[in-house]
Amino acid sequence: MDLFDIALGGSLQSEMAGLSALQANTDQRLTGTGDRLAALERRYERMQLVMLALWALLKEHTGLTDSDLKRFMHDAEASAATHGSAVMTCEQCHRIIRKSATRCIWCGAVVNTGNAFQGT
Ligand SMILES: [Zn+2]
Repeated sequence: MDLFDIALGGSLQSEMAGLSALQANTDQRLTGTGDRLAALERRYERMQLVMLALWALLKEHTGLTDSDLKRFMHDAEASAATHGSAVMTCEQCHRIIRKSATRCIWCGAVVNTGNAFQGT
């Protein structure tokens, strides 16, 4: 029994042990979140490389241009706006985005859906 046990009747020691266990649990969760984020970043980088390679392949073999791709993207956005109930307009840039988005894919603005459980 140390000085703190004598002064505080031992309750501080057990409380400190509980706090240490809670901190260890929090550290473990943060590490897990960091690992998941790193894995998502790697997947994003691979998908981006595949997309760039596919687009280069298409351009080389079909004669399509970057302007064609932009036009198709615009058409897809317009189609989603007229046919999709899962889309909304970004309040910042007024482009069409998915309702499940937590940020606008065009301008990066945080999407305010008013739904606290959106994107979880
Ligand atoms: Zn936006």
